[in-house]
Amino acid sequence: MRLSTLAALAVLLLGPGPTAAAPHDHGRLPDDVPSSHTHVPRPWRRLSDAIIRSIWGLPQSQHSVRGADPRYGDDVVVRFSIRTAEEAEALAAAVDVLFLDVWEFNDDWADLRIAKDVVPSLLGLLPASLHTAHQPLMQHLSLAQAVFDTFPAPAATQPHHHYSPDVTTSPRAGRGHPFFQSYQPLSVIDPWMSLMSSMFTTHVRRISVGLTFEGRDIPALRVGVHPTDNQHPGGARKTVIITGGAHAREWISTSTVNYLAWSLINSYGKDREITRLLEEFDFVLVPTLNPDGYVFSWDTDRLWRKNRQSTTLRFCHGIDLDRTYSYKWDGNATRANPCSESFAGDAPFEGVEAQRFAEWARNETEYNNVDIVGFLDLHSYSQHILYPYSYSCNDQPPHIEDLEELGLGLAKAIRVSRKGHSYKVASACEGNVALANKKKTILPRIESSGGSALDFFYHQLKVKYSYQIKLRDTGSYGFLLPKESIIPTGEETLDAVLYFGRFMLGQVGMAAKAQDAKLDEKTVEEQHEELIEL
Ligand SMILES: [Zn+2]
Repeated sequence: MRLSTLAALAVLLLGPGPTAAAPHDHGRLPDDVPSSHTHVPRPWRRLSDAIIRSIWGLPQSQHSVRGADPRYGDDVVVRFSIRTAEEAEALAAAVDVLFLDVWEFNDDWADLRIAKDVVPSLLGLLPASLHTAHQPLMQHLSLAQAVFDTFPAPAATQPHHHYSPDVTTSPRAGRGHPFFQSYQPLSVIDPWMSLMSSMFTTHVRRISVGLTFEGRDIPALRVGVHPTDNQHPGGARKTVIITGGAHAREWISTSTVNYLAWSLINSYGKDREITRLLEEFDFVLVPTLNPDGYVFSWDTDRLWRKNRQSTTLRFCHGIDLDRTYSYKWDGNATRANPCSESFAGDAPFEGVEAQRFAEWARNETEYNNVDIVGFLDLHSYSQHILYPYSYSCNDQPPHIEDLEELGLGLAKAIRVSRKGHSYKVASACEGNVALANKKKTILPRIESSGGSALDFFYHQLKVKYSYQIKLRDTGSYGFLLPKESIIPTGEETLDAVLYFGRFMLGQVGMAAKAQDAKLDEKTVEEQHEELIEL
């Protein structure tokens, strides 16, 4: 019997598990650490385990890691290096049939999360060449411990929290600011955003870009100074949108958007470059495009990725918000499997939050005199700066040279930043596909990557400078990046954003060089005229 048939049979036979969503605790305090004793693996993950175990006749899992969250107790993350089409195809099939959780894949490797004792059986499905081309990540600590470590420390060991802006630190530096010592839950981020807008009324406004499936606000901060003098007559307001948290478990993307917001807000009037930027542009900062998923990742399952929308399978919630946009939507690959971590829904824009956000952005450009000139969609992990297109490597965007140039500039800005890390620059399709050898032969995909926010903003909304940036790290901790990395990641991303601003202002890049050359020419001409006059 084919494995896919077995899997489908198991779905029918095992039937729905208990309803997944526990009621949300809106009153959770920032210092709360989720109980590690009450959780059970989420229903579809148990289903996946059951299928795998029935296929190979394995004994039921013994969650025996003492003190660890049983949800993750036996799981490991394994990195495969893929070099041939056969390997890529076999891995993609295994992911599909066994509902494996793909953490990240790119031109070098694919990281999969899987129960430890199932690894040998998985290897049995894969070509012999992959039997040696894999290694476990996070060998020095358990997944459960890494999950635990990303939550704030208990209140007694934390410095006293106060969320007022700290005017004593250097304007660009969030170092030492308690807000960035830990990842923050939505119940803290939300009032923090309100506080920012009420304290800095000259250049900050809190806005909403829509409502989530569960009825939450998707909050954003619009940061910028609308000039009142006559030098800026009524043209459309140039606006840069920076988003995070489309995938719930990518907490570093949410904290980084907050870091950027805080740095821009607090530097206005103190730092000449940032003040100029806020005079020229509005920045709309959306720390989490997926608040329902983010709350769920805090309260129930730290490794939750999708939103919390119901699907045709009662026990499998969630649509992948970066696969549901209408441009080149490619949901046919996952349509039959709502349990997939990259489920794109049954139709374009079925993902509520993505649809509302896209509608808001379109509305801004059509009716609110806004010209969106840049879109930076922050994700994790792998340290990549990706430009369109995501959906296919066969089509090139019309502005590929400019996109590459600015992408390389952003990567350089990060690299020369305060101990900044090295980020690769690639088209999103290449960043999401295995490549064989140096000739860049494209191998079969591990997962489809159509319907992305990146392609939608670039192609549908005509935002020329659209990027997806995958932040730290390259796999030491993956989504479970320690909180000590919040500030360094924020700093290096701020430097990239400042470079982005300089580029848009024509101060760096080819445009600036062309300008310099013009000036030089002028000087030569002027000198010539002077000589003639003599
Ligand atoms: Zn992501």
